[in-house]
Amino acid sequence: MLKLHKTKGANMLKKVVKLAFVGLAGTMILASSLEARTIRWKLAETWPSTLTPLASPPVKVAEMVKKMSKGKFIIKVEGKEKHKAPLGILDMVKGGQYQMGHSGSYYWKGKDINTVWFTTIPFGMTADEQYAWFYYADENHNGKPDGMEYMEKVYSKFKVLSFPGGNTGVQMGGWFRKPINSVSDLKGLKMRIPGLAGEVMAKLGVKVTNIPAGELYTSLDRGVIDALEWVGPGMDIKMGFHKVAPYYYTGWHEPASEMQFLVNKRAFDRLPKEYQEMLITAMKAAAADMRYENFAMSAKAWAKMKTDYPNIKVKTFPKPVLKAMYKATQEVLQGYASKNKLFREIWENQKAWLKKARPWSMMSEYYYLQASQEIKGK
Ligand code: CA
Repeated sequence: MLKLHKTKGANMLKKVVKLAFVGLAGTMILASSLEARTIRWKLAETWPSTLTPLASPPVKVAEMVKKMSKGKFIIKVEGKEKHKAPLGILDMVKGGQYQMGHSGSYYWKGKDINTVWFTTIPFGMTADEQYAWFYYADENHNGKPDGMEYMEKVYSKFKVLSFPGGNTGVQMGGWFRKPINSVSDLKGLKMRIPGLAGEVMAKLGVKVTNIPAGELYTSLDRGVIDALEWVGPGMDIKMGFHKVAPYYYTGWHEPASEMQFLVNKRAFDRLPKEYQEMLITAMKAAAADMRYENFAMSAKAWAKMKTDYPNIKVKTFPKPVLKAMYKATQEVLQGYASKNKLFREIWENQKAWLKKARPWSMMSEYYYLQASQEIKGK
């Protein structure tokens, strides 16, 4: 009986050991197959793949995650020339044809007006103030950074995640064939200016048109339009606008245009945790990098413009014109806020943050630039 029991026990032990080995081996096979599996994603961007610096962040993200994952997480980037749907990015990422997109949040204002808060608004925040809002402001006192919290809220209905994707800094006010000396000079002016700024200009009597990028130069040259805004010297110089519209105005309407990475929520949730972290880190680094790249491009282009095209006349809109633009901006925002509770909430939140952020911007960058330039006698 004892012997039998012993034998039985020994058999049991053998079985348990055997099972344990099978289990262990099984786990090992599973782990190695996960490691071996290469994840392949596709990203669609609003821009042609040659349009730097806007087209740079997705390429950099793809390079970074490939290196970090030792070649196991591959993102294929497709420019507008391939997918031919520059303003279909949100729909394509939502639908899962692409796991990722790179675009600008304010392009979706027709789907939800609250998307404008994650690009820029006229007379809004600078890039530093806005990045701090995305990642560190907490005017709601709930431990979540305000910008990211609101962006998640607004985009959740599309079942996508949205992340900052690069910043142009202050954009120039645009190229004008004739100078703007008073508010009445804006009446009847035909101008290409998109987004909320277009609505503001329309309130001031401007005939706002939207013309595809490829036709802008000819339209300005032939007088189909009298003025247009694009980005800043780095991107404007290639378009040649300075040759046909010599008045180059400083900015007010897009003080910190933020690009955007879109990620299909389901695809993101299915990624291994470490790949999720790689992706988030890469997007943040690539976004910051675009800001540096754009700054360098604009500084170089502006130096070249000044020497090669001395006819360019840099101007700032007269104070009464800026005042009218500011007033019209408040009216446009108020109009949306009266119809949309969340719009009002985000607006109030940004205003509360700016109460802290702006005095610090003035105290640091603004006074430093002013003082150091005065000392040097420039
Ligand atoms: Ca622009």
